[in-house]
Amino acid sequence: MSRIRFNALQETSNRSPLKVLQTEKRSSLFGKNVFNKHAMQQYLTRSAYDSVMNAIEHGTKIDRKIADQVAVSMKDWAMSKGATHYTHWFQPLTGATAEKHDAFFESINGSLAMEKFDGEQLVQQEPGASSFPNGGIRNTFEARGYTAWDPTSPAFIYETTLCIPTIFVAYTGEALDNKTPLLRALQAIDTHATAVCKYFDKNASKVSATLGWEQEYFLIDDALANSRPDILLTGRTLIGHSPAKGQQLGDHYFGTIPARAMAFMQDLEQECMLLGIPVKTRHNEVAPNQFEVAPIFEEANLAVDHNSLLMDVMEKVSRRHKFKVLFHEKPFADINGSGKHNNWSLSTADETNLLSPGKTPMKNLQFLTFFVNTIKAVHENGELLRASIASASNDHRLGANEAPPAIISVFIGSELSAVLDELENVTKGKLSPQEKTDLKLNIIGKIPEILLDNTDRNRTSPFAFTGNKFELRAVGSSANCAGPMTVLNTIVAKQLKEFKIEVDKLIDTKNLKKDEAVFNVLREYIKESKKIRFDGDGYGEAWEKEAKKRGLSNNKTTPEALKIQIAKKTIDLYEEMEVMSKVEVEARYEIAIEEYTKRLQIEGRVLGDIARNHVIPTAIIYQNTLLENTKNLKEIFGEDYKNIAKEQIELIMTISNHITEINALTLKMEEQRAKSNQQKGLKSAEMYCENVKPFFEEIRFHCDKLETMVDDNLWPLTKYRELLFTK
Ligand code: ADP
Ligand code: MG
Repeated sequence: MSRIRFNALQETSNRSPLKVLQTEKRSSLFGKNVFNKHAMQQYLTRSAYDSVMNAIEHGTKIDRKIADQVAVSMKDWAMSKGATHYTHWFQPLTGATAEKHDAFFESINGSLAMEKFDGEQLVQQEPGASSFPNGGIRNTFEARGYTAWDPTSPAFIYETTLCIPTIFVAYTGEALDNKTPLLRALQAIDTHATAVCKYFDKNASKVSATLGWEQEYFLIDDALANSRPDILLTGRTLIGHSPAKGQQLGDHYFGTIPARAMAFMQDLEQECMLLGIPVKTRHNEVAPNQFEVAPIFEEANLAVDHNSLLMDVMEKVSRRHKFKVLFHEKPFADINGSGKHNNWSLSTADETNLLSPGKTPMKNLQFLTFFVNTIKAVHENGELLRASIASASNDHRLGANEAPPAIISVFIGSELSAVLDELENVTKGKLSPQEKTDLKLNIIGKIPEILLDNTDRNRTSPFAFTGNKFELRAVGSSANCAGPMTVLNTIVAKQLKEFKIEVDKLIDTKNLKKDEAVFNVLREYIKESKKIRFDGDGYGEAWEKEAKKRGLSNNKTTPEALKIQIAKKTIDLYEEMEVMSKVEVEARYEIAIEEYTKRLQIEGRVLGDIARNHVIPTAIIYQNTLLENTKNLKEIFGEDYKNIAKEQIELIMTISNHITEINALTLKMEEQRAKSNQQKGLKSAEMYCENVKPFFEEIRFHCDKLETMVDDNLWPLTKYRELLFTK
């Protein structure tokens, strides 16, 4: 056994769970390290508090004097909790989070010192961010970028640093991050959903999107993970024979949580409580060593920040527990990978869920309006939604019979389908009083009952209605939720805008009553968006054929999927909804394409190294043992050795064949890589996808075969069976 593998296994053999001290009730820890409403009430003057609340609820500006007051209070609060530094915390287009810490400490005349933090430092910073991806934005305009305070997501303390959530923009105003377009999309959905709400409640004043994510992940002992260069550099295993026992028995899913994982979760949950991340659910997932954590849903911007923060905290806490947490969508072959379901809905100022039917016919019509408009939005923009979840790592999952396919469809269940079918037959134009009564009592009146005991679930649908929310089930586990949430909220906002125009037109020109007009437009939408609805098995081949017949797109790879992002239709949409400018859209596309290429390039290099430096030399050493053995047998038994050493000789030949194949394939892959590297942008990404990536599986095949033949004592890479079964 290689020294690295041996040491790693030795190191892990005596691990026991870390004791987690739990002294206080969870609820009493909640939000303790967050500058939330409660802390603000304690620390801010009345006018400062009102000003911040106004900014949060109505997007008003906070003036400089107030910002100074807020900064001083924030600093006092943070220092009372042991903070020494502050940082603007933002989400650049790498998808991760970024922070640069500055001390509150300042010296005066070189001899005295004090802690200082003022409005200027709170509101705006220039993080010297020239190395973040910008997709050409800063080359064409100005080199500088700055971060600006987002008061809608509260500041928090992590370890000894006060973290202030911020947006990150170029000096010319273009967004260089994930948060800015998300905030603009949330503004758009607020505007257009509130306008539609006014049909049903003239006092409607605000609509927020809500998001409840479910984060899946793997926990691998860190010594074992560190012994694998592929896990270390790419986040996944590039080779590795599947263990005799994987997930076949289904004994991990919802099973007893292993003790070490449990200790990690308890520690993580305590950190989350302090940070105000309302985590509630934890359980084993399908694959061995795979788990899930999910919070109570929150306003979408906050929920996105909390997911990004959670992923950071998970990495830190996992280190304490001698684990490496893997967010990659497919870290191991032959067992399930990880996703991040995004549960989404819309909520009014009084916390009415717009995707939950109410008690009156009017409220049910409101539910139906948002329900049908969402379906229509996905129908019009399925490809864009698909693009929003595209990444090199998520390509492994989509359509791999463990995650929904790359074909976007909507599942609503048979009972709601029946309601929509009935609505399709509503008379065009004016409705008779009888018809109106019938509609209200018998069709939409039935909805609450239907949903009450609606147990229809479809785990194979990428976008499923689950009783009071839609669940976007195709998001990758490593993704930043801001991407899909920006798209979903933008397309629904645009759809609601169209809806309002059409309804108003019918009221004005056809003299229809409001509810008649609403019914009329919904009926058309139901008809027009029928092809996006699918309740069957999304994993089956039959659906792929059927979807093709229906004209639904099936963009299986990231380069293919991303193209729609820069289509004229998409740019028009973003510009109309004031979510992104053409420059911002194109920059994001360029970054996504480049990231895809780089990821495959890194994987190709690592695989080449492992195949050449680990697998082939080990196979040769073992082959030499066999040769030595055969030679010895010949010496003792003379020509009879051919019979006696038959197995050895065959094995020697087989090993040679695999070595030859690995060598030849690796060389060919390198050739293709070199060719792809000569191209730029989409062309390079496409070449990596079509010409380089296919070699990964082929090379792996031969390496994995060798793993099953070579003496276990010699094999250098920690095996799946050792990586995957933490107690
Ligand atoms: P499951 O889907 O496993 O049956 P739940 O229905 O309880 O479980 O919810 C799953 C996720 O959906 C949770 O993270 C929860 O916070 C979220 N969720 C529930 N209601 C909403 C809502 N109105 N908006 C957004 N997310 C929601
Ligand atoms: Mg779910």
